[in-house]
Amino acid sequence: MSLHVYNYLTRQKEPFEPLHRGRVMMYACGPTVYDHPHLGHAKTYVAMDVIVRYLRYSGYKVRYVQNITDVGHILDTGEDRIIKGARRERVEPMELVETYTRSYFEDMDALGVVRPDISPRASCHIIDQIEIIKVLLKKGYAYETPSGDVYFSVEKFPDYGKLSRRKLEDMIAGARVEVREEKRHPADFALWKHAEPEHILRWPSPWGVGYPGWHIECTAMSTKYLGETFDIHGGGVDNIFPHNECEIAQSEAATGKPFARYWLLTGSLTVDGVKMSKSLGNFLTIKDALKLYRPEALRFFVLSSHYRSPVDFSRDSLLAAERGVERLHNTVRALRARLQEAVPSAGTADLSYITDLDPHRDAFIEAMDDDFNTPKAIAALFDLNREVNNLLNSGRPLRRGTLAAIDRLYRDLGGKVLGLIPDDLSGEAGGEVLSGLMEIILDIRRQYRQAKDWERADDLRYRLSQLGIILEDHADGTSWRVERRIE
Ligand SMILES: [Zn+2]
Repeated sequence: MSLHVYNYLTRQKEPFEPLHRGRVMMYACGPTVYDHPHLGHAKTYVAMDVIVRYLRYSGYKVRYVQNITDVGHILDTGEDRIIKGARRERVEPMELVETYTRSYFEDMDALGVVRPDISPRASCHIIDQIEIIKVLLKKGYAYETPSGDVYFSVEKFPDYGKLSRRKLEDMIAGARVEVREEKRHPADFALWKHAEPEHILRWPSPWGVGYPGWHIECTAMSTKYLGETFDIHGGGVDNIFPHNECEIAQSEAATGKPFARYWLLTGSLTVDGVKMSKSLGNFLTIKDALKLYRPEALRFFVLSSHYRSPVDFSRDSLLAAERGVERLHNTVRALRARLQEAVPSAGTADLSYITDLDPHRDAFIEAMDDDFNTPKAIAALFDLNREVNNLLNSGRPLRRGTLAAIDRLYRDLGGKVLGLIPDDLSGEAGGEVLSGLMEIILDIRRQYRQAKDWERADDLRYRLSQLGIILEDHADGTSWRVERRIE
């Protein structure tokens, strides 16, 4: 089977055929940089990352564009997210944007998310946005109001609603009514807004001083770098309406051509079954999560569900992800240790075993070709892991070539594609010494506890915590973990 993807536009699984052979042009809506990224961002961008990685592994040359929204993202309350954040922190809006753009990439780097090929910023593409608005006005898809706003007229675009499958009649009921707005239809959306005197982010335009609406930036930046029609549009499913719907309308109205051909949208993230929000107090930034869990565990957690499914974050699911990653790393570490010991002259691989590897690769590829089914792909990796453990423990003499071939497979599937197995696990090799030491220390503490010497047992726990090593007592013993410190 070749790669098939679920296209949100058609609500169907379709064979993936890029516009230009061997080349994939892909866009994903990026973050609005007004605060530190949270776990929802981890879910969306790790999922997108694996799609990009797998396309590249399959031999496609991918151009991946992901924008930075640093202007124009207006909340339902009518406030501008960036300006609100700047007021909160008493800084210039562009200072805020710089801080949180850096923070975003810091976190994505930590999670092993491969950087986009182009990360265009909305504020650097104001002219491009103005040009598209001019075209829309000229073609009659947009209108200017007396106060200097420009709106897209949804009634002029019969396909409006085709991605989210909403009907125009239904949108009227749900639309926000603002007395001051001069819309012709309640679902019309802003392409350009005139700036009130207190609005700091402002630019001159043919319609007076103002700023672009949020949606138009994605049309401007995707078509500029990927072409008027391109292959994949990604992002979180939460943005499907109105944002993605508006992108399609303005783009197709302006160019007269189809916009993105495949829409791959990720499911959202909840915390203990509830939507994550600051007001509910269940808000977790990626930085805080990385203090508790290693980055591969966060990736493992995200990839254990299909990218289109919602995921629920809980402490138990993350601990399960930690254990999963540890099992893979332990085997790979043992494998690489054997590889180092293996005599170089015994270089040729054991062919009978190498052919045994093919079904594992095939199972992995089959899973990923089926709309990037990462849970199945991970299961294939664990099948391999089980077999490799048996092989390493079998006492059979293993040739260097055999070990190297297995290692290559791990590097490809677990490393290059899923990003769960670092190329260099030796940073954790010190971990073997640490594990041994912790075993000794926990043994001593167990003896204290058996002798009911709670004071000494607690003292030991306290001193370890000073080093960032956290002990947790369970019914069946004590576990420990290193609290990661990332400033
Ligand atoms: Zn967008």
